[in-house]
Amino acid sequence: MPLNAIEEPADKKCLDCGTALGPGRVDRKFCDAACKTNYNNTIKRESREEKEKAAAAKPEMSVPEYMIRIEEILRKNRKILEKFCDEDRVGRIRMRDLIGRGFNTKFFTSQTDPTVLEGNVYRFCFEYGYREEEGGVVVIICRPREVAIDN
Ligand SMILES: [Zn+2]
Repeated sequence: MPLNAIEEPADKKCLDCGTALGPGRVDRKFCDAACKTNYNNTIKRESREEKEKAAAAKPEMSVPEYMIRIEEILRKNRKILEKFCDEDRVGRIRMRDLIGRGFNTKFFTSQTDPTVLEGNVYRFCFEYGYREEEGGVVVIICRPREVAIDN
């Protein structure tokens, strides 16, 4: 008798519908492919529902916490940009390397008017600005601090 055809214990049941499986392969768990698919879909749905429940149960961040979090992101962004550029040197790095260092492109402090800097829009994190060129290269510049902000 081949190893995989050992008799099942008589009480072994389909994990999905509970029907007795009868004799068959020792590792058999389902009646058929339909029960297997249904079972796996149920597991997936339950784990998704649990995740959604956990996310909903998490208390929302307070406004001060939220502001601190954004400040942290901006400071980290600035620190990363600072490594590649100073007032005498334009920096260049691949976007994927910037992201790899933990750079977050979602948050920035200001962006240049497209009519200045040769039409290129730079996004700034404080005094360091960057823009992505074609091919995924990021150009990083440093500009004088905007100490006199009127608007
Ligand atoms: Zn079944």
